[in-house]
Amino acid sequence: MKTLVPASLGLTVVLLSGCAMMGPSYEPDTDYQLTILHTNDHHGRFWRNSDGEYGMSARKTLIDAIRAEVEAEGGEVLLLSGGDINTGVPESDLQDAEPDFLGMAMLEYDAMAVGNHEFDNPRDVLMKQADWAGFPFLSANIVYKDNGRHLFEPYEMFNVQGNRVAVVGFTTEDTVKIGNPEYIGDLDFLTPSVVAQDLIPELDEKSELIIAVTHMGHYANGNYGGNAPGDVTLARSVEGIDVIVGGHSQNPLFEPDVQNGTLIVQAHEWGKYVGRLDLTIRNGEIASYEYDLIPVNLKEDDQLLRPEIAQNLEMLAMLAPYQQAGSAALDTVIGSADGDFIGDRSVVRNQPTNLGTLIARAQRVKAQGDVAIMNSGGIRADLEGGDISYKDVLTVQPFANGLVYVDFSGAELLDYLDVAASKQAGSGAFAQFDGINLRITDGEVTRAIVNGREVDPSQTYRLVVNSFMASGGDGYPQINNHPNFVNTGFIDADVIVEYIEDNSPLQASDYNPGLSVVRR
Ligand SMILES: [Zn+2]
Repeated sequence: MKTLVPASLGLTVVLLSGCAMMGPSYEPDTDYQLTILHTNDHHGRFWRNSDGEYGMSARKTLIDAIRAEVEAEGGEVLLLSGGDINTGVPESDLQDAEPDFLGMAMLEYDAMAVGNHEFDNPRDVLMKQADWAGFPFLSANIVYKDNGRHLFEPYEMFNVQGNRVAVVGFTTEDTVKIGNPEYIGDLDFLTPSVVAQDLIPELDEKSELIIAVTHMGHYANGNYGGNAPGDVTLARSVEGIDVIVGGHSQNPLFEPDVQNGTLIVQAHEWGKYVGRLDLTIRNGEIASYEYDLIPVNLKEDDQLLRPEIAQNLEMLAMLAPYQQAGSAALDTVIGSADGDFIGDRSVVRNQPTNLGTLIARAQRVKAQGDVAIMNSGGIRADLEGGDISYKDVLTVQPFANGLVYVDFSGAELLDYLDVAASKQAGSGAFAQFDGINLRITDGEVTRAIVNGREVDPSQTYRLVVNSFMASGGDGYPQINNHPNFVNTGFIDADVIVEYIEDNSPLQASDYNPGLSVVRR
């Protein structure tokens, strides 16, 4: 049985799901054109930003134009996503990313890798999202612990003018490290390269082309540091993967990284770019390729050399009510507090406050860290007692910085603390702490107690900060290049919202910094 993708879409890609595989039916010595379009790490950006950058309505115009061009030349398009559609924009998060998945359905995505952030919501939400999407969510390495069955299909077969194309999904093992145990406790995340050892040769038997759509990260030369192994490691671990369409590390790859004969691509994040890989297939192999990472109305990029991409009005009309509903939902009460939390800049930049402690603690708890440090310049307002709304939290933390951590030796932690302690009162760099008792004498750390003990230079400690600080912001040491650095992908405001939801009513006195930092 073969199922045609709805003819109204004008596609001739044929799905061959769950049936006996037919042999190849392409003509020998004939060129076939397959264009792979791809995005990844959408993270709730269904709507363009205030500068008119990215957004799904411009993406639709762009993709429609490329489809028309490719099909006019007799080629075909596969549109793939490297996953992480969820989490990052409250207007999307508060609606379970419904606009995002409906938008992807309108864009006619063919398949998606399951990303770690797809597990930020309960399972019934994820399954609802798969329904909204209507295209397959793929992951070959996520299985139920009890029976070993896949949560989603491991792969999907497509037929491109007689060329059989296998699209197989893989998901980062780090999902268990940074995911919510409540939502993934019944699942095993197997090692992708181990699963690939068996699966890729099997797919090789029944396909001409193997595309892995992954959410594992691209780490140059396979240096994945504190992360789980990524696309480069996967490509090197097995023969036969022709293309890896990746995600998770959220880096733009302006040229495919060719590893062990595999073309690895990734399109940054948020739909800022659409990747376009034009393949010429001859005798069941890639004969040649061209690549372009196309910016979607980016204002400070090579977009300046490209014409503005118009909004697709049909997409805009579908999304606009969600944008309005999302904005309205920001007024929803998420919790309450029995007293005020102090974030006023004249105070928070000069002394430890309960709001500084609250934010640092929420981040430390989320990342299961030992110590959290928050730059006071990232705290923009008081959080008043009484009911608290999402909007109140966004007023306090408007910058949408990421939650990141690094596993430091005690010696490295002490060096970092010396810098943090030296930040002058009155500056935005001034540090707010949680998880540590510090004595600071003349701007230097003279005693540091973590988990009830003096910091041991040879022990390991997890330090949690925000992505701004990790990149060297406010003069903090750059740690996002440390081998043990991990970006959780969670947004600061979301982290505190979740913490308030879980701990309301907040007792302001529980967050009194008291004597945890003594300056002399
Ligand atoms: Zn991710």
